[in-house]
Amino acid sequence: MSKVDATARAEVRRRRTFAIISHPDAGKTTLTEKLLLFGGAIQMAGAVRARKAARHAVSDWMKMEQERGISVTTSVMSFEYPIPGIPADAPDIERLANVNLLDTPGHADFGEDTYRVLTAVDSALMVIDGAKGVESRTEKLIEICRMRDTPVITFVNKFDRECLAPLELLDEIEDKLGIPCVPWTWPIGMGKRFKGVYHLVDQQLHLFKPSDKAGEDNLELSEGIPVSGIDDPRIDELLGDQADDLREDIELLEGAGAEFDREAFLAGKQTPLLFGSAMNNFGVRELLRTFVSLAPPPQQREAIVGKAAIEPPKPGDPVETRMIAAVDPEFSGFVFKIQANMDPNHRDRMAFMRICSGKFARGMKAHHVRLGRDVGMSNALAFLARSRELVEEAWPGDIIGVPNHGTIKIGDSFSGGSKLRYTGIPSFAPELFRRVLLKTPLKAKALAKGLRQLSEEGAIQVFKPLLGATWVVGAVGQLQLEVMKHRLLDEYSVEAAYEHVDFTTTRWVTPNLEGYAKQDLDKVMSNFKRKCEENLYVDGHDDLVYLAPNKWNMIKTEERFPELRFEATREHS
Ligand code: GDP
Repeated sequence: MSKVDATARAEVRRRRTFAIISHPDAGKTTLTEKLLLFGGAIQMAGAVRARKAARHAVSDWMKMEQERGISVTTSVMSFEYPIPGIPADAPDIERLANVNLLDTPGHADFGEDTYRVLTAVDSALMVIDGAKGVESRTEKLIEICRMRDTPVITFVNKFDRECLAPLELLDEIEDKLGIPCVPWTWPIGMGKRFKGVYHLVDQQLHLFKPSDKAGEDNLELSEGIPVSGIDDPRIDELLGDQADDLREDIELLEGAGAEFDREAFLAGKQTPLLFGSAMNNFGVRELLRTFVSLAPPPQQREAIVGKAAIEPPKPGDPVETRMIAAVDPEFSGFVFKIQANMDPNHRDRMAFMRICSGKFARGMKAHHVRLGRDVGMSNALAFLARSRELVEEAWPGDIIGVPNHGTIKIGDSFSGGSKLRYTGIPSFAPELFRRVLLKTPLKAKALAKGLRQLSEEGAIQVFKPLLGATWVVGAVGQLQLEVMKHRLLDEYSVEAAYEHVDFTTTRWVTPNLEGYAKQDLDKVMSNFKRKCEENLYVDGHDDLVYLAPNKWNMIKTEERFPELRFEATREHS
């Protein structure tokens, strides 16, 4: 193995790229801060809370410049953390994990962004409020994780308060999310009687001391107390009458018999479970250690290769795919998020690229596959603990920010020259629609530009009718529409009226290649376009979309054209 290979392997092996998923208020912000504090990225922690404050009210979303300033620094948070079990005198590249925590927008209306961030991670940390159990947004996010079999580690938070019984929580996670839990730590009491956790894997007792001031200067934690097993009399000395309750719980757990199975965990079919209180710094260090030792480094990813990576394949054309290993020497990555107009004077936009293989080195060019040309990457940014810095080198699992003027779209892939396109970055069918009626016709060009850019950013979806010329915009939530209106006015000086349109459902339409001959499909397609003209639009990617006034109409149309596929999500092409 050459030295380069060995370095690449080691760099990949130590990467941990993940996101936190939770229902609002479960403690994601608090836990993020605490992870950064434990990871030594102290200054970042303040920014996380500031960002949360800034997004508290809808009106605050309108302070776009400020908001985006903060959100860039907390979009990707990187820090190093020792990998348990590796000797302290080993070289850093073996000893320290390189953790990349990707932020997900908190507001439910921005779900689409969150979903796309989840395509760029290798694992997820699920935070559950111990008092509330599994909540709706967590269920949705887990569905997205399941699409890619993302491994999930679970932290049950707020055990310093009265919570649901831990065994009940376990059942609820298994029932509602369909993922069997493997307890890693187990709580001893809760609320006023919360004594700490028993670490089932390390056989240690971690005692809880409520912190008066749970902040940066309060990270001096007592080490776990080793015990010889659950019957060790020290447990009685330390826990008093709660020792027997703990023993009873452990006995029940052993009866339930969920053994840790690494394969099942890596396939997203089992989740290690830890308890604690993020606010009190309790259980966070154990969580971080467990996370760093269990969470997988970047894995291979599927890409479409060859011609189909550039143009959508014609009906009947074969589509060739390849699994690309993270240690493949050729550079590759894809863009999962775009943030526009961070500096309103320059209209610059930042494309967030997840590196999937190879090495990124400053000064190199990368091949922008969709446009078929090589582009310089000398101004790409890394998101290190303290600031945005120019990237010198980056490896699979890392995220780099590529400033551009609108040439890069969500879903674009970059390579060292090969034609390849990473799959699995979804668009979701919007549920709210407005027809955009310009107040001054002279602004038609500015409107088209603004809408195109906002849709490329993934902020909204735009639809151009096959018939007529009035744009329709679609959003997954109301807040997205508000932000769009504000930005069209503020950044593109477009004044428009937004007329309610009676669409409720969107389906992307493609020929059903299974079981139908190409000539027949061409005929069906042109018949379909003629018959359904007033409902047909093309989206920002020129893909055909059917907008339906109601569910019934959608069902009927689907029945009428069995030769066509109607899909509620669409991968970016
Ligand atoms: P997010 O909406 O998921 O980001 O939640 P936050 O981190 O902002 O937390 C929501 C609320 O729960 C805040 O008032 C926190 O102070 C509180 N909180 C977070 N962690 C804990 C905890 O461990 N115990 C208690 N009692 N409250 C917590």
